[in-house]
Amino acid sequence: MNIILLGPPGAGKGTQAARLVATRGMVQLSTGDMLRAAVKAGTPVGLQAKAVMDAGALVSDEIVSALIGERLDSGEAARGAIFDGFPRNAPQVAALDRLLAARGVSLDRVVELAVDEAALTERIVGRFTCASCGEGYHDRFKPTAVAGTCDVCGGHQFKRRPDDNAETVAARMAVYRGETAPILPLYEARGIVRRVDGMADMDEVAAQVAAALDEPVAA
Ligand code: AMP
Repeated sequence: MNIILLGPPGAGKGTQAARLVATRGMVQLSTGDMLRAAVKAGTPVGLQAKAVMDAGALVSDEIVSALIGERLDSGEAARGAIFDGFPRNAPQVAALDRLLAARGVSLDRVVELAVDEAALTERIVGRFTCASCGEGYHDRFKPTAVAGTCDVCGGHQFKRRPDDNAETVAARMAVYRGETAPILPLYEARGIVRRVDGMADMDEVAAQVAAALDEPVAA
């Protein structure tokens, strides 16, 4: 099963994707993660993407589509792919259709994480991860049990995304409203969108996502 997790920044796409990876053996294909890895490695793509990401704007459709194509070709998504942060505009919807059709693969569900936008900035600017194991935390909603120590691996180094500041978040929200939200009707017309309550607690959201995926596909 191949799915898209769709929702604004901070809606919980990454958190829910990680759950599906753990429970269903699917792979998370996050263009944001791929771009951050490219920036860190200093590749030509990373050098091109960094300033765009820091501004909260969209990296070119060609770059992100190529990244997704490479990952689809690696064979890792045999048990299903979770597209996280892609597609983000109408041209990327068309690009994903082409990438999947060329490989004889279907798109089964688009799970929309419906959230109250007013709450998102606080969710985003407070988030941080363990630099060693990647466990996600939040200053207010999920602090470490012992200050400065990762609950999972005991690490002491943490990191925050450079684009998780109030100014860039405002730009990212505007891009979501202007370019990404309008792709929902394209998928609604195909009858594959399922909406879940992204404001519920993480376990409840996970249960709703699971129900959305397990519902039989209409003939
Ligand atoms: P994310 O981790 O999904 O929040 O993405 C972080 C940043 O990476 C975005 O603000 C964009 O600058 C860039 N990015 C990620 N995915 C895409 C995409 N599908 N198209 C264009 N830019 C993207």
